[in-house]
This record gives sequence, structure tokens and C-alpha cells, in this order.
Amino acid sequence: AAKEEGRNRFHYFTPEMEAAAQQRRRLLNQLREAIDLQQFEVYYQPIINLKTGGVVKAEALLRWNHPNGQISPLDFIPLAEETGFIVDIGNWVFTEVVRQLSIWQAHFNTDLQVSVNTSPVQYQDGSSSNLNWFGNNIQSHNLNPASLCVEITESLLMEAGSGVTDKLLQFRNQGIEIALDDFGTGYSSLSYLKQFHIDYLKIDQSFVSHLTSGSQDLVLCEAIVVMAHTLGIRVIAEGVETQQQQQMLTDMGCDFGQGYLFGRPVPANEFAAQWLKSPVTDLSE
Ligand code: C2E
Ligand code: MG
Ligand code: MG
Ligand code: MG
Repeated sequence: AAKEEGRNRFHYFTPEMEAAAQQRRRLLNQLREAIDLQQFEVYYQPIINLKTGGVVKAEALLRWNHPNGQISPLDFIPLAEETGFIVDIGNWVFTEVVRQLSIWQAHFNTDLQVSVNTSPVQYQDGSSSNLNWFGNNIQSHNLNPASLCVEITESLLMEAGSGVTDKLLQFRNQGIEIALDDFGTGYSSLSYLKQFHIDYLKIDQSFVSHLTSGSQDLVLCEAIVVMAHTLGIRVIAEGVETQQQQQMLTDMGCDFGQGYLFGRPVPANEFAAQWLKSPVTDLSE
């Protein structure tokens, strides 16, 4: 009966748009509390060196463990960006990754580099102190800054005012590496690659998923690899799902691969169990 009432009430007072707005407000209120309720978790996905087969990197991917089930970042990151929550959330992710990485470095013999996604909102004026704080946090944990990489999007470079340039330069000067995510899906011009001193370029999975011999995407990927290498930039292919794709990417000289073929994003303890096997040996004993 309550359900019936609810439906009638919705029907009577509110058209679909109002229901959607209400749903959005509810999600927003829950998002506001998610940090305090410890509902966020960072998953890690391996990135493989295609030449050696070794796991040398991982991408940190945020998960929201909502009481009703896990919510995909695709469904809450845009909301977090619109409302500015992404600044706090982004800081939480940074803190968590630095914490986790310092633990792994203490327990395992590993050179793992973790890359963290960032949103353009985090680079807007007023948020700069947060990014500075990221650097301080790294220092206080005694982490080698080169074990961190910041992923940015082409849209950030498009919008880039001097503020963005400064912040990226700060990262760079600290020794943190920079990767350009989802390459090929935005509108950035090649000149940005030179201007911003990008270390890695991540070929978007939409190109990788259509890699077959003789395909246009094959030609495109090959061209991207050649161009990137000419500029001293290393290339990571996203969304590698088949052995055929892995082979073609390796053949064209692509440096790294990431995708379900190698491993899905998993919680930190699973990642360590699966990929960080060699413990630190205590020489004093
Ligand atoms: P992204 O940065 O491009 O991350 C790669 C996405 O592709 C991840 O989705 C990953 O799970 C998925 N993926 C990896 N390998 C494969 C594959 O072989 N096949 C397919 N179909 N998918 C694959 P996810 O984890 O759902 O994240 C989606 C997006 O949400 C990310 O795309 C990123 O833009 C954003 N995101 C995730 N975590 C954060 C964060 O901490 N901060 C910000 N600002 N954005 C984040
Ligand atoms: Mg990414
Ligand atoms: Mg991507
Ligand atoms: Mg993306």
C-alpha cells in the first residue's frame, strides 16, 4: 500500500523530471557523507610492460561502496565535479594512495608506480593548495615522487590557463610523472604534448578494442606510438582484452598495456597478493 501511495504521490505531484531531480539530490546528500562513512575504496589495476611482461605500474580507480551496492565512478564523478565535492574526494584518493604505496614499499620489494586520476576541477583556482598538499604528503611519507603519476585529461589542457600550467609544472618539478588519459577522444592538439611535458600518453580503449590487422585503428595506433616516441613520450594502451591486441601493440612498439587481459581493478589486498609477491628481505637477520 505504501508503494502504491508513493507511486500515486509521484504521479500526482511530480513529473519524471522532478523524480530525477529528487534522486539526484538524494545521491548528492549520500555523496556528501561518503567520505565520513568510509564508503570509498581505491581499487588497483595492473599496467604491464609489454616488452618484459612485468607489472610495473597500477592505476588507482575509485569505488563507492554504497549500502545498496557499488556505484561506478562514471555515475558519481560527474556529480562530484559539478558540485565541487571532487576536490575533497580527490584529496582523499591522494591520501589513500600515498598511504597504501608507502605500506607496499615497506613490505614488498617493488618499484611499482601508481597513477591517480585527476579532474580539471581540482586545478581550478582555490584548489591549488590541495595539489600542493599532495606534494607535502608525499614528502612526509618519504615516498619517491617518481612512484606517483597524475593522470589528466585533454579537456584540462584545452582549458589550460596559467594556473593549470603552474600546477602541472609543480608536479613535474617534484618528480611526479604526468599521463594524458583517454588520448584520441578529445580535441587536444599535438602541440600540447610538447608544451606540457607529458610523460605518458594513454591510448583510449575505443581505439584498442577495434585493433585488427588492416584496420584504420591499427594505423592510428601505430602513428600515435611513433609520434609519442619522437617526442620522448611513452605509450600505454588502455582496454587490452585479447591476446591479439596485446601482440599487435607489442609489435608496433607500444610500451605498456592495461586491460582485463592482464587483470581487472581489484582491492588493494588482492592486488598485493596477486602482483606484489616478492617480500622485502631483512638483511639484519
Ligand atoms: P579511466 O581513467 O580511463 O580508467 C579506465 C577505465 O577502464 C576504468 O573504469 C577501468 O576499470 C576500465 N577498464 C580497464 N581495463 C578495461 C578493459 O579491458 N575493458 C573495459 N571495457 N574496461 C576496462 P572505471 O574504474 O569504471 O572508471 C571509469 C572512469 O572514472 C575512469 O576512466 C576515470 O575517468 C574516472 N575515475 C575513476 N577513479 C577516479 C578518481 O579517483 N578520480 C577521478 N577524477 N576520476 C576517476
Ligand atoms: Mg585514467
Ligand atoms: Mg582512460
Ligand atoms: Mg576516462
